[in-house]
Amino acid sequence: MFKWGYHGMPRTIRLILGDQLTPSLDIVKHADFENDVFLMAEVREEATHIKHHKKKIAFIFSAMRHFAKSLKQLGAKVRYITISDPQNTNSLLGETARAIKDTNINQLVVTEPSEYRLREELEAWKQRLALPITILPDTRFLATHHEFQSWANGKKQLRMEMFYREMRQKHNILMAHSRPIGGKWNYDAQNQKAFKGEVDIPQGPDFVPDGITKQVIREVSTHFPEHFGHVEPFNFAVTREQALQALDAFIQYKLPHFGDFQDAMKQDEPFLFHSLLSAYLNCGLLTPLEIIIKAQNAYLAHKVPINAAEGFIRQILGWREFVRGIYWLFMPDYLRENYFDAKRALPSLYWGKPTKMNCLYQCVKETQENAYAHHIQRLMILGNFAALCQVSPSELQDWFWSVYIDAFEWVELPNVTGMALFADGGKLASKPYISSGNYINKMSDYCNHCHYDVKQKQGDKACPFNYLYWHFLLENEDKLSSNHRMRMPLNTLVKMPNDKKNLIKKDALIFLSKINDETNF
Ligand code: FAD
Ligand code: SF4
Repeated sequence: MFKWGYHGMPRTIRLILGDQLTPSLDIVKHADFENDVFLMAEVREEATHIKHHKKKIAFIFSAMRHFAKSLKQLGAKVRYITISDPQNTNSLLGETARAIKDTNINQLVVTEPSEYRLREELEAWKQRLALPITILPDTRFLATHHEFQSWANGKKQLRMEMFYREMRQKHNILMAHSRPIGGKWNYDAQNQKAFKGEVDIPQGPDFVPDGITKQVIREVSTHFPEHFGHVEPFNFAVTREQALQALDAFIQYKLPHFGDFQDAMKQDEPFLFHSLLSAYLNCGLLTPLEIIIKAQNAYLAHKVPINAAEGFIRQILGWREFVRGIYWLFMPDYLRENYFDAKRALPSLYWGKPTKMNCLYQCVKETQENAYAHHIQRLMILGNFAALCQVSPSELQDWFWSVYIDAFEWVELPNVTGMALFADGGKLASKPYISSGNYINKMSDYCNHCHYDVKQKQGDKACPFNYLYWHFLLENEDKLSSNHRMRMPLNTLVKMPNDKKNLIKKDALIFLSKINDETNF
């Protein structure tokens, strides 16, 4: 039987989920440390309803255990259930019910879950547990649900850029006298350079696993051996203090070049100038506003150029908040969006089957090792290929959700469905992010190491992205014709001779027919 180890009578159980590890949340700030009990549980149901990458499970469990330890150090009473606890019922409901049974409480408090499924489940818990449940708002985001809905209300098109400008004004970020600092809202045009080794790529910081993390790694290896990915080496921050060190190191060493090389990719350089802060943000070790303010201060202190500061801040103040707004605005229907009626099963190369396509091989290998790929790898390699092959949105959603350390449905789903696949028909993005091999060759050196020839358009050695791109346009011409941003490639398609179109179709169909057989293509 669990012993509380104190003599007071608990009144409230405060359930803290794995992505709510933020001491400034009301659930912690307003707790009565004398009487309340914090409940945290590592449950199989959450780790396996999508089979998450081993490193991701280890990261979340370790960050949870460290968070519980810090709460205890503050004097809080914490009931912490590990994945190896023999009495673990392995569901959040089961653990909450068990905690209620073992204690004398009269209410449950929880911060609003970030995921639609869990929020719906909480409503049902009210009946099942027969006690009052208070759901607190998640105050870490910079736009509330209500604000986003009001902004979206009545608009024909929802575009991140317009939302972002309002957010800049509302939070007074990079603003001077109601105008954007530097005179422009967006410096994206300066942020599309390929990386040719102009500067050294800063490494780390790497965080050596402590005893808690080592124990978690052992337990994850035992409990989830069949999950995708490598759990070691494990270098992620697992405490707020470490995450703050990672933030400071990013601002000092990487942010100055973030803008220039934001869209670049390089063989065997999985991180380049990216921050790797998404996992810390999404589970709450860092908050968006503190990151934005530090990036803004670096600009104001003349330590980073405007294209770097603005480009980075836009990702967090703009894109991150925008995708969350889209998620809650369109759920649950958003799960079923499939504008192109795409049905193909996810090619097995996504799970590590060898492929001669070097760009895909690199990105999958790095994902397996690090549970991380940066944005352009996710969008223009892994997402682009799936879009061109017309992979079923739900198959790609599950893959992205399972393999990345930062993947939570609210942020994964709009990025996959809306941005990578354009499966929502344009609710999130103004055009499909698809390209031939040309773009990949321009932004990376992957093609220099590839079996295929990016310059060839047809035949055995031709880069598959080349014919798959035109094949996709041929197949979906009707659905794309009203999109003015697709006018240029569609005009080229109209002028293309029929024999060329036939060759494209032939190459694409042969390629797609063998995509899931044992051939190493
Ligand atoms: P940086 O490049 O350093 O960017 C800084 C921060 O900006 C990130 O930490 C992140 O918080 C935010 N950001 C940047 N772009 C986006 C975006 N499009 N949406 C939301 N936040 C953004 N991000 C996730 O956090 N979780 C996901 O599950 C996820 N799935 C994605 C799936 C696809 C198909 C695509 C195209 C993008 C996805 N992203 C996701 C967005 C983005 O790729 C990651 O946030 C980023 O790669 C994380 O690495 P970083 O911290 O080094 O980012
Ligand atoms: Fe990728 Fe094509 Fe370049 Fe090979 S040639 S790396 S498949 S884009």
